[in-house]
Amino acid sequence: MTVRVRFAPSPTGNLHIGGARTALYNYIFAKTFKGKYILRIEDTDQERSSKDFEKAQIDDLLWLGVEHDEGPGVGGELGPYHQSQRTQLYQKYAQKLLQEGKAFYDFCTDEELAQMARLNKETGAPPYTGKWREKEHWPEAQAKIAAGETAPLRFLVPDKDVSFKDYVRGDVTFPKGMVGDFVILRSNGMPTYNFCNVVDDHLHQITHIIRGEDHVNNTLRQVLLYEAIGADLPEFAHVSLLIGQDRQKLSKRHGATSVLQYREGGYLPEALANYLCLLGWSHPEQKDVFKVTDLIEEGVFDLKRFSKSHAIYDIEKLKYINSQHIKELSLEELKKQVHPFIAQESFYHSQTNDWQLKFLSLFQDKVQLLTDFTEKVDDVVNKTIVKTDELNEILAWETTPKIKDFLLNEICEKGDQDYISEETFSNWMNFCKKDLKIKGKPLFMGFRGVLTGQNHGPDLKILIPLTPINVLKARLENL
Ligand code: GLU
Repeated sequence: MTVRVRFAPSPTGNLHIGGARTALYNYIFAKTFKGKYILRIEDTDQERSSKDFEKAQIDDLLWLGVEHDEGPGVGGELGPYHQSQRTQLYQKYAQKLLQEGKAFYDFCTDEELAQMARLNKETGAPPYTGKWREKEHWPEAQAKIAAGETAPLRFLVPDKDVSFKDYVRGDVTFPKGMVGDFVILRSNGMPTYNFCNVVDDHLHQITHIIRGEDHVNNTLRQVLLYEAIGADLPEFAHVSLLIGQDRQKLSKRHGATSVLQYREGGYLPEALANYLCLLGWSHPEQKDVFKVTDLIEEGVFDLKRFSKSHAIYDIEKLKYINSQHIKELSLEELKKQVHPFIAQESFYHSQTNDWQLKFLSLFQDKVQLLTDFTEKVDDVVNKTIVKTDELNEILAWETTPKIKDFLLNEICEKGDQDYISEETFSNWMNFCKKDLKIKGKPLFMGFRGVLTGQNHGPDLKILIPLTPINVLKARLENL
C-alpha cells in the first residue's frame, strides 16, 4: 500500500501554526514511508475563501519546506484539488445515496427545525426527527423536487454505534443516537464540509488522516459516510490541541499564531518546523533540536509517538530552538537569511562583504532571532556611553585612565583610517601589558570598558576592528 496523506486547509485566513503543524506531520509521514503528500484546498465556503489567502498559505507551507506532491500548481492524476471545482462529483455521490435510500430531501421549515431541536434536546432524542426521514414521505418529496422546489439533502443516519481506530486516542466509539440526520447538500446544491471531505478523501485515495483533535466529532459523521458510499476507512490520528501557558486553547491572545508572523519575526523555517514537530510528538531519542529532513532520513517519525495530552505552546523554547538553528548555518547562508531583516539604510549594508561576514560570525551564537542582528549593528556604531554602575567601577580602577589616555592618543594618530586592524589591536594590548604593566582583568575589562562602555560582550579582538575609528574615538571622548 502506498501511503497517501493530505492537508486540506480552508483559505479563509493566513496559515495558523496549528495548521502548519498538521501539514508538517502529514508531510513527514508521507516522506518517511515514501508516499505522497497531497494539498487540497477546501474552498466551498465561497464568502470566506479567497485566492489571496490560498496563495499566502501555500507560500508559507513552501517556506516551511512542506512541498506537496499533488495539488495546486503541481497538478496530479486525481485532480482537481480545489473543492470548488469538484461540485459535480459531490452531487453524483449525493444522488447515489438518495437512490439507495441513504439520504432524503428535507422540507421542514426553519421554525419546525428549531422547535424539533429544542424538544428533542429535552427528551434526549437525536436533533432531527422530521417526517421526511420516513420512507412513506419520499415520493411526496420527489414530486416537490420534480416540480422545481428546492430542499437540503440530509444523510439518513443509521441507528448504530460508530467506532474507529485512532493512533492517538486508541479505539474511539460513539454510541448510537449521538448525531441526527445531517445535511450533505444544501438547498442550493452546495455540499457541506463532512460530505466533500469524505468524497474527496475517498477519490484522492487517502490512506491516513492526521489532523487536529477538534475534528473527532466530524469523524463520527465521516465514518458513517465512508460506509454509506462503500469506501474503505482510512486510518486516523487526531493530534492534541495546542494550548497556551494558561492552558487555554491557543489564540491571538497568546501572541503570534500565524506562520507569517514568525516568518516576519526573524524565525528560520527549519526552526519553526522543528518546534512545531515537538508539539504533540516526541523524538525517540528525546532530541529537541533536529532538522525535518533528518527525521525523514532517519525514519524515526511514527504515528505511535503522538502524545494524548494537550501541547503547551512555549515561545521561549521556540526562540531557543531558533538560536540553535542559527548557529548551524554557514556564514553565507546566515548572511542570506539576515539580509532582509536589516533596514536598507542601515550601516550594515554600507560595509564590505568581509565586514559583514565577520560581524555575523561574531554574533551568530549570541542571538535568538534573525531580527536581533539589527540591534547588534546599532551596538557596534553607537557613540554614546551610558555610565552604569558596572562601568563606573571599571573607570574607578587606577589602571583604566592610563589605558584610556593611551588609546585616545593612538586613535587620534590614526585619524584618517576607517578601522584599525586586528594586528593593531593586539599591539595595543601588548603595549599596555609590557610597557604599562597592566595585566589580567584590569587589562581586558579596562579595554572593554573604555572602548565599548560595556562590561561584557563578544570577543574584543574581533569587535574592535569592526567598530569604526570615529565611533571608538567618540566613546573615549565621552567617558
Ligand atoms: N478544511 C478542514 C479544516 O481546515 C479540513 C479538516 C480535515 O483535515 O479534514 O479544518
